[in-house]
Amino acid sequence: MEKRDYYEVLGVSKNATDDELKKAYRKLAIKYHPDKNPDDKEAEEKFKEAAEAYDVLSNKDKRARYDQFGHAGTEQGFGGGYGGFSMDDIFSQFGDIFGGRGGFGGFGGFGGFGGGRRGPRVNRGSDLRIKVKLTLEEIAKGTSKTLKIPRQAKCEHCNGTGAKDGTAYTTCATCNGQGTVIRTQQTILGHMQTQATCPTCNGQGKTITEKCSYCKGEGINREESTVSFNIPAGVAEGMTIQVEGKGNAPRFGGINGDLLVVIEEIPHPDLIRDENDIIYNLVLDISTAVLGGSVEVPTISGKARVKIAPGTQPGKILRLRGKGLPSPNGYGTGDQLINIMVYIPEQVNSEEREIFEKLKESKNVNPPENAKQRIFSNLRHIFDNE
Ligand SMILES: [Zn+2]
Ligand SMILES: [Zn+2]
Repeated sequence: MEKRDYYEVLGVSKNATDDELKKAYRKLAIKYHPDKNPDDKEAEEKFKEAAEAYDVLSNKDKRARYDQFGHAGTEQGFGGGYGGFSMDDIFSQFGDIFGGRGGFGGFGGFGGFGGGRRGPRVNRGSDLRIKVKLTLEEIAKGTSKTLKIPRQAKCEHCNGTGAKDGTAYTTCATCNGQGTVIRTQQTILGHMQTQATCPTCNGQGKTITEKCSYCKGEGINREESTVSFNIPAGVAEGMTIQVEGKGNAPRFGGINGDLLVVIEEIPHPDLIRDENDIIYNLVLDISTAVLGGSVEVPTISGKARVKIAPGTQPGKILRLRGKGLPSPNGYGTGDQLINIMVYIPEQVNSEEREIFEKLKESKNVNPPENAKQRIFSNLRHIFDNE
């Protein structure tokens, strides 16, 4: 296969700045990251291709040579090309680009690198994702959940090592238990040292001499684990709570992945959530709207009484301060907004008909000149949410 132009690989122009290169590479690295594309050879190739392009173009000298000589200008320097550019090399060289786990928004399997890694590889299990449905009341107060979750757990018989009784292994002779080997190459830039995963023990630093029979040497068993965790008040649909260390255990021992709890809201029969505010549509009878009174309304923390002023128009909003939801970061609490509606009788008996007939002649039931503006100002109230 013909080697693609490095600028083309990163999708940048020939005079791209360092910042543009970095951005372009970061985008590709995230897109083709092996954690996002498990067992996808093509993605892996693209990932390596982008790393190689970035390695050359982000280095002033290498870039100048590449601009002058093309691929020939870089390949000879690496003893026949980038064939040995392994995933570990990429991670250890460009750890700063990835910015650690945080920069990736919580991918699994990423914990161990960050440049200059020493000692055996620390495995990290994959993250587990579950959905949890919450009522509005649970969201208002915060809650805790205890759930049974099927997951890969550390084998207790071998302490996750996969070796019989947790002891039937020896230190890897190839790497002396380091898990990595150093390759030194003579290049036109001088000695180049690259750190690579030990091929004998796959980075574990040890070799199993007899497998644990309970987990068949994997160090993990599938089980139903009881997991408890807290959910803070004010969370919203689609938010993810990270429960550290409650995900899958890795093979051959190491750190557990995380449990990612995705929040789903169960709609409330009466109350509507609007970010941290709660909206309640109150339907008044026509007499209470005219004469005023006191009405009971549901809130997130039980019933509340509200005063209805005489002559209350439909569309008016009453505000119960602090009766909304707390914000999950702990700053402030929303309000409950009571949206007034008025029920117009759909049928009347002869007695009521008489009353309404009489009212028709009364000056007060006929809308005044500015009625439209007055009702409109109530409606604008809703849109402004004020
Ligand atoms: Zn080894
Ligand atoms: Zn075992």
